[in-house]
Amino acid sequence: MTQLESVIGLEVHVELHTKTKLFCRCRTDFGAEPNTQVCPVCLGLPGGALPVLNQKALAYAIKASLALNCRIAKEITFDRKNYFYADLPKGYQISQFFQPVGTKGYVEIEVDGKVKKIAIRQLHLEEDTGKLIHLGGILSSPYSRVDFNRAGVPLIEIVTEPDIRSAEEARLFLQKLRDILRYIDISDCKMQEGSLRCDANVSVRPAGSDSLGNKTELKNMNSFRSVYQGIEYEINRQRELVMRGESVLPETRHWDEENEVTRAMRGKLASADYRCFPDPNIPPLKVDSSWVEQLADSIPELPDARLKRFVEDYGLPLRDAQLLTGSRELAEFLDATLAHYRQPKAVSNWIQGELLRLLNLENMGITSCKVKPQDLGRLLEMVDKGVISGKMAKDIWEEMFASGKGPETIVKEKGLVQISDENILGQIVAEVIQENPNSVKDYLGGKKKAIGFLVGQVMKKTKGQANPQLVNKLLREKLTEGS
Ligand SMILES: [Zn+2]
Repeated sequence: MTQLESVIGLEVHVELHTKTKLFCRCRTDFGAEPNTQVCPVCLGLPGGALPVLNQKALAYAIKASLALNCRIAKEITFDRKNYFYADLPKGYQISQFFQPVGTKGYVEIEVDGKVKKIAIRQLHLEEDTGKLIHLGGILSSPYSRVDFNRAGVPLIEIVTEPDIRSAEEARLFLQKLRDILRYIDISDCKMQEGSLRCDANVSVRPAGSDSLGNKTELKNMNSFRSVYQGIEYEINRQRELVMRGESVLPETRHWDEENEVTRAMRGKLASADYRCFPDPNIPPLKVDSSWVEQLADSIPELPDARLKRFVEDYGLPLRDAQLLTGSRELAEFLDATLAHYRQPKAVSNWIQGELLRLLNLENMGITSCKVKPQDLGRLLEMVDKGVISGKMAKDIWEEMFASGKGPETIVKEKGLVQISDENILGQIVAEVIQENPNSVKDYLGGKKKAIGFLVGQVMKKTKGQANPQLVNKLLREKLTEGS
C-alpha cells in the first residue's frame, strides 16, 4: 500500500473591530440586546436602502493583505453570493468573488526547525451573517430565534492554498496569522468569542501525487486545540476509508468537541451553486496607490522581524524572544524600557518574572499596566548603582505596579534608601558579632557558610536596607580582625 499524505487548506474568517458595519452605520458592539443594532440596509428591507462601503474596513483589509505579503488589487468589486439561510436576511451575502482586495500572499511558519511558506490564495472583505439562537439546543427546540446584530459586521476571509500537510502545521499557521493580525490591530482575534473562525478543507492522497482527493470541509472548531484535534481526527478517518477501498464523500462536517469526532452536516456546495454576480448597488472601486502606501507605512514591525531583532540585536535567548514577541504590547514595553536602560537580559527577565507575575495575579493585560517603561529602567538602574538592594527593588516594584508612581517617589516616601555608610553598618556588624558567638565560632572554625546567617542578622536589624555586598565585606574584615 502506498503512503498517504494529507492535504489541508484553511479558510479563516476574522471579524474586524470597526465601530460600524460594512455597508451601514449600525454599531458593532458585542453583546448588545438582540436586534437593536440593525437598519433597513443590514436587514435587507426593500425600498431604496443602499449599501455604502465602510472605508475603515477596506483600510483594515488592505493592511492585512500587506502584512500577509499579498498583492493589492488596483480595482476591487463586491459581489453577491446567493444562498438561503435563516440568518441571512437579504438572501445573499455581499462578498468579493471576482476582484478581491489581496491575492498571492504567504505566511511563514517554522516546522521542525525549517521555515515553510504557506501560500495565501486570496484575502477578501465580506459581511457577516446574523446569529441563530436555538432555545434548548438545536435538536430538542421547537423553534429558533435570530439576532441580526451581527448581520453586516465586516469580516475578512483569508484563503490558503492547500499547502498544509498536518494538523500541527495548521495550528502553527493559525497562531502566526493571529499574531500578525493582532500586531496590525484590526481585530482582537478571539476564537472563543468567534472573532477568529477557521474552517479546514481536508483530503488525503497517495504521497507525491499531484491530484487532489475528495475533500471534506470541517467546521465549528472554536479553539486552537480543536483545530488541531478536528483535523487530526478527519485525516485519520479519511485514511481508514481509503485503506478499506472506500471513497471519501465531499461534504461539510462538524467538529463535535464533546465527543471528539467529526459528523456529516450536509453535502458540500460547489462555488457555482452560489450564482455569484457583481452587486449592482456597489460599483467597482479603484484603490488609490498613494493611500495603499500610507497604509503600508502604518504597519508596525511584525512578529517575525521583531523576533529576529530581539535575538540578534539584544542577544536574548530564542525562547525569551518568542515569549516577548507573542504580544505586541509586551514587545513594545521591552523596547521602550531598553531605550532608557540598555540591559536586555535584565529587562527581559524582569518582564517575564515580576511583570507577568503581577499581571497574572491581578488578571490584567499589559495595556492596563500603570508602570511606565522608563520607570522600570530607573528602578533597575538604582539596583545597579547600589542605591537599593534587589530585595528592596521587588517591594518597590509592587508599589509601582499598584500606584503607577516612579521608583524615586516610593523610595523617598518610605525612606527606603539602601544603607551604604561604612560607619553605620560597621556598628551594626559589631553588634551582630557580639550577639552570635556560636556562629562566629563556626565561621572561624572553617564553616564559611556561617557568614550567611550573620549577614541575614544585619539585614534583619536594618529592615533589609543594608547594602549586602558591603555587609559581607565588613563582616569578613571584623571576623578576621578578631581572630
Ligand atoms: Zn444596519
